[in-house]
Amino acid sequence: MSRGPRVVIIGAGIVGCSLADELASRGWTDVTVLDQGRLFAAGGSTSHAPGLVFQTNGSKTMAEFARYTVEKFSSLELDGQWCFRQVGGLEIALTPERLLELRRRHGLARSWGIEGRLLDPDECVATWPLLDRDAVLGGHLVPTDGLAKAVRAGEAQARRATEAGVRFLGEHTVTDVRTEGGRVTAVVTDRGEFQADVVVCAAGIWGPRVGALAGVPVPLQPLAHQYVRTSPLPELAAIAAPADLEDLRPILRIQDRDLYAREHVDRLGIGAYGHRPMPIDPATLLAPADAPVMPSVLEFTPDDFAQSWSWAQDVIPALRGATCEEGINGVFSFTTDGMPLMGESRDLRGFWLAEAVWVTHSAGVAKAMAEWLVDGAPRVDVHECDIDRFEPHQLAPAYVRERGIQNFVEVYDILHPLQPMESPRPLRTSPFHDREVDLGARFLEGSGWERPHWFEANAGLLDRYEDRIPARGDWAARYWSPIAGAEALATRDGVALYDMTSLKRLEVTGSGALAFLDGLTTNRLDRPVGAVVYSLLLGEDGGIRSDLTIARLGPDRFQIGANGNLDLAWLERHAPADGSVVVRDITAGTCCLGLWGPRARDVLAPLADIDVSNEALGYFRAASFHVGHVPVTALRLSYVGELGWELYTTADMGRKLWDELWAAGRPHGLIAAGRSAFGSLRLEKGYRSWGTDMTTEHDPFEAGLGFAVRLDKGEFTGRAAIASRSEATAERRLVPLLLDDPAEVLMGKEPVVIDGRTAGYVTSAAFGYTIGRSIAYAWVPASAAAAGTAVSVISFGSPLGAIVADDPLFDPRMERLRS
Ligand SMILES: Cc1cc2nc3c(=O)[nH]c(=O)nc-3n(C[C@H](O)[C@H](O)[C@H](O)COP(=O)(O)OP(=O)(O)OC[C@H]3O[C@@H](n4cnc5c(N)ncnc54)[C@H](O)[C@@H]3O)c2cc1C
Repeated sequence: MSRGPRVVIIGAGIVGCSLADELASRGWTDVTVLDQGRLFAAGGSTSHAPGLVFQTNGSKTMAEFARYTVEKFSSLELDGQWCFRQVGGLEIALTPERLLELRRRHGLARSWGIEGRLLDPDECVATWPLLDRDAVLGGHLVPTDGLAKAVRAGEAQARRATEAGVRFLGEHTVTDVRTEGGRVTAVVTDRGEFQADVVVCAAGIWGPRVGALAGVPVPLQPLAHQYVRTSPLPELAAIAAPADLEDLRPILRIQDRDLYAREHVDRLGIGAYGHRPMPIDPATLLAPADAPVMPSVLEFTPDDFAQSWSWAQDVIPALRGATCEEGINGVFSFTTDGMPLMGESRDLRGFWLAEAVWVTHSAGVAKAMAEWLVDGAPRVDVHECDIDRFEPHQLAPAYVRERGIQNFVEVYDILHPLQPMESPRPLRTSPFHDREVDLGARFLEGSGWERPHWFEANAGLLDRYEDRIPARGDWAARYWSPIAGAEALATRDGVALYDMTSLKRLEVTGSGALAFLDGLTTNRLDRPVGAVVYSLLLGEDGGIRSDLTIARLGPDRFQIGANGNLDLAWLERHAPADGSVVVRDITAGTCCLGLWGPRARDVLAPLADIDVSNEALGYFRAASFHVGHVPVTALRLSYVGELGWELYTTADMGRKLWDELWAAGRPHGLIAAGRSAFGSLRLEKGYRSWGTDMTTEHDPFEAGLGFAVRLDKGEFTGRAAIASRSEATAERRLVPLLLDDPAEVLMGKEPVVIDGRTAGYVTSAAFGYTIGRSIAYAWVPASAAAAGTAVSVISFGSPLGAIVADDPLFDPRMERLRS
């Protein structure tokens, strides 16, 4: 009987143990788990984690990882002892801002299938009696949250895996990773060598060190975080849990003070994120034998805890007579975006990462990793966790350190969905940046790019449009200006320039390019030079991995408008090894302006050295020509649903292109417009954004993208999975909703409720200035997808009426685009 490939997992913390169990349960039992420490309290972060598991998360993927961890750990026990107790999780608000945020989190949890309850202050105190009633404004209770015994849960899973044939070896320190021909072949330890087809680095805070042995970057930053146990509290003694249960009341978060707490029988355990960040260089971590307590536990620094202690005493008066009896500076991993690191290295085949994972998400991550290894892909969408997501600058040690620190600082902060990183900025600027600054651009950031959100120079447009731009509530008004509304309307009425440089651009060339792309994507690409095609990348399971705009610029040359680094990696991973296809990321060396609006041709025609009439250069056609002095490649398409072109040139000529268009365009009323307007216009037109509106969890028909699928074109990746599917068989649909109240603009991820039950969730939302309605795209059951169906959307705890509308909401006959 096959036992699967030879797998070595480095690290027997909660991640390594969970992964071994998930692999074994799928029949991969030739698995060796190595740890430098003694099993199973091996000295890593798992060994001292207090084990609080709060499932609510802004990321659907992370919530699913946590939900599975709760489910799995609840079913485990070790020698009759519990591994998880569902004591509930309570988050409390001390400020009005947090109260609002908790309402939002309540909605987020509900969107992802995790039911919670909003509590008033009395209910909070009834649930957690040691709280100061006067300090608390309200709370959010998730009854299925709880406490994990991380070492126990690890050992319980390890025992099950061992019974299936997996080996766990403690006191084996990995000192090298052997490779041959770009593949892993073996793992070397101080006690011998282990042959391996697959190596998984689950080494926690040692990840960067272990990765370096294999030449693979592991972009995480370990930071110390303080946790204390108090002296016994008389107030708790009377109601304390029996010793074996430890805790009877919900685990507690007081995010307004960067604190969390749990009971240890008659004491409290208190963790703090409010202290100064303490980044740790992985090179300084001691070997288990040399560490006074364990390598991931550093000496407690009481001064750093003083402020947190005083804050804790404010909210939990029983602490005023108590002391901190024991404390640690425990070390664990932070990443640049707060998400785990999962997947196979692109540079070293067979070397996988399962890093920067909390106990909370550990079993879910392990399950997804096992599916990825055994079946070729995880069932859950993991694009936010995939190590291929990083742009090259995001692997710079300085970036990893700074962002890791910032993520520690922000761990409990209230973050607006549009809030950009503040530092390090600026990182990437387009050639138009100076001109944009001159126009008063308000920049947000994406993939390191400075991206104008709107331009203060357009304030004068408000005289014309103000009455079509409703005022907004607090949250919706952040990172927004009515000027953005004016820019959207001016685009529909006249013409605007959009800086599209941050759009990922790939070039695929070579004699095998056509066959390669045709075999990877859903639409027909065998079309004449000059054709532009919208096509989808699917996984083998038929889930959408990306949507691409593919322009055939020569018989063997294609330019691809992609969504990000994941697309580059996907193409590179699938490119034939014979050199017949070359994939290049041309984003940084080029730039792009969208020239869009009914008057776009008036601007371009006099500058272009070819005929740009509709007859000569029709919709979804590409051509290379000159705009004044500037050589461009133009694609006749528009994400905002208007006549116009994406104009590409090399970075050195970018500013000249802007200046030529600007000078020619001003007499026609040309403005520069930003991404806020763009987001509104694209939703009016129903253009989906991959990663937000649809992911690998959705097929093209559910997402309303069946038009991009040509099942009759021959074989392509994912075809078999979707061959028998259609719009008619889709059980859920992505549909536009129109809110009853135009003054309400949603944030995204709100639950959609039908007949009192959670039926789906919002993806993107914006105000549609042209149609004068507030728009939200949302996933709903197919039975509720018909136009006119009434639903409600829960926004900050309040139900808002909405109806399903026909898709798209604006110019369904495409008259403006084809004009
Ligand atoms: C104070 C504190 C409180 C926390 N509280 C919570 C909480 O309440 N809830 C929550 O979800 N998370 C919490 N965390 C985070 C959580 O503990 C970690 O994210 C998680 O335990 C990481 O698990 P892991 O298996 O990835 O890493 P680890 O547990 O660190 O395991 C990695 C293993 O790799 C081994 N290893 C490393 N290098 C080598 C080598 N060269 N050769 C062999 N073996 C090697 C190590 O010995 C170690 O055992 C907390 C962390 C800290 C520090």
